Amino acid sequence: MIDWQRVEIVMLDMDGTLLDLNFDNTFWQQYLPKHYAEKQQINIDDARRELMARYAEHKGTLQWYCLDYWRDNLDIDLMALKKQISHLIKVLPHSINFLDQLHRANKRVLLVTNAHPDNLILKMEVTQLRHHFDGIVCSHDYGYCKEDQRFWQAFQQQQGFELAHSLMVDDNLQVLASAQKYGIAQVLAIRKPDSHRPENRVMEYPSVSDFSEIIPDIY
Ligand SMILES: [Mg+2]
Repeated sequence: MIDWQRVEIVMLDMDGTLLDLNFDNTFWQQYLPKHYAEKQQINIDDARRELMARYAEHKGTLQWYCLDYWRDNLDIDLMALKKQISHLIKVLPHSINFLDQLHRANKRVLLVTNAHPDNLILKMEVTQLRHHFDGIVCSHDYGYCKEDQRFWQAFQQQQGFELAHSLMVDDNLQVLASAQKYGIAQVLAIRKPDSHRPENRVMEYPSVSDFSEIIPDIY
């Protein structure tokens, strides 16, 4: 599935790839709508419908990932709310073992995320994953999200990796399409980003349910 001989640099998405997307899905689809409903004094179904419509407007853009935008737009302290359910932030099964194996195989390991910097800090604090990476790349630092070709241009210019020796792993197929279009040699999709939901169907790219399926291939 992956030609490990050719891989020198492994770029890993955070939410839904290394960390359980259950936290984010619970936050955006249940916890925030509940809070918003109370604040606006409307019922939860109306709150959810209104928020979903607003999310949809910005999907696939940096703004969609931008907590400052949503904080100002909804007038809600999102980070304070997130901290209330931070016990749901969890590393997906086999992630740490996979990261260890990558290091043992001498791969350069980068976390490459669209998460807002405040989100990134919170998640690294809770999971203690930071020391597992050779570097952390946050798309907000470049002003473009991973779905945008300009992100890859800026990122490659700064990090100087070789496309032919790169692998990108992500649960977002739009991101993988963007990575592939830019020239990232190999891509891998995660089919089960959320431990509480069924697997996604992935036809377009090589995929695994979780990292236990590919660890042996490193050697
Ligand atoms: Mg993701």
